[in-house]
Amino acid sequence: MSSTIPTFGRMLRQLVDLEVLALRTEPLDVRIERRLKQFWADAICPHCDHQSIRVWDDLDRIWCRNCDFRPVYTYGTPFHEKHLSCGEVLLAYILYADTLLSISQIAVLVDRTYMTVDYAIRDVEAAISRGFPAVWARIQQTMLGPTEVDESGKVCSGYKGQDPPRESRYRGGSFRRGRIRWKGRHGDQLTLVAARRDELTVIRAKKGIRFESDLLSVIQETEDLSQWLGEVWTDGLQAYRRLDYDHRVVMHDERYVSPDGVHINHVESLWSVIHPWLRKFRGLSKQGLEQAAHTFGLLQSLNRVRAPILTLVDSVAIDSFHSST
Ligand SMILES: [Zn+2]
Repeated sequence: MSSTIPTFGRMLRQLVDLEVLALRTEPLDVRIERRLKQFWADAICPHCDHQSIRVWDDLDRIWCRNCDFRPVYTYGTPFHEKHLSCGEVLLAYILYADTLLSISQIAVLVDRTYMTVDYAIRDVEAAISRGFPAVWARIQQTMLGPTEVDESGKVCSGYKGQDPPRESRYRGGSFRRGRIRWKGRHGDQLTLVAARRDELTVIRAKKGIRFESDLLSVIQETEDLSQWLGEVWTDGLQAYRRLDYDHRVVMHDERYVSPDGVHINHVESLWSVIHPWLRKFRGLSKQGLEQAAHTFGLLQSLNRVRAPILTLVDSVAIDSFHSST
């Protein structure tokens, strides 16, 4: 039954079954709980809008003294009701965003179904993406130098409107039968646009690079995250020529560094690392690729400033809780 054997991860699954790779997320669970409760203590009650939330170290419920609302501390966050502990959710996200492990492999590691893990990752991914600018504003150093902008070649998004086929989950020594042959249509071809400035990397997936609007969103996001924008360095692509920025061009056909030192070597070095990472998904929906590309950029940025793991929890919390301050 060779068709039922997964392409990758069969050996890894054996290690999981042998309990060599038993996970202990309790230390992470504890730290996430503590962090979320710190945010709750400053948050506005989602029911009555009063800042009257009380938290306790040894209780998993928080309490609004004004309206008596008593949800668990994960309420309103992507950690809530995921059939995974907080630590497992964050672990799954990190394995997804920061390694070449596939979601099938991550599902095996945390011993949940593909759907459970995929759903948890997508949810926390979107929250981290939304909360990232506020967290970045807190941790960023002064960013100097030019913003290099580049576009990748064509990247296939996988399959239109649907996600690609799943490997059925391995259970206790036998593979589940009945894998369905995939008949999805091929999806849109998306191009990646990336901007890099100092430690900051911003990546967006676009349908094509025909207009400056395809580039502007990436440049504006970079500007928002670095407070002000320096020079923008690009190659000679037509769409860049109308950019209304302090803009300098290196003509690639001729050379990689212009006589006055303009180049996009730093941003170009991204493509060699993002492509292997994207390949692990074996095709993504358009929306999935857009989100994944953005995630890759922000993880690069956080890793380059050596941000601690709890920075990810802060991104989630900032997105989930309404603070009174
Ligand atoms: Zn309340």
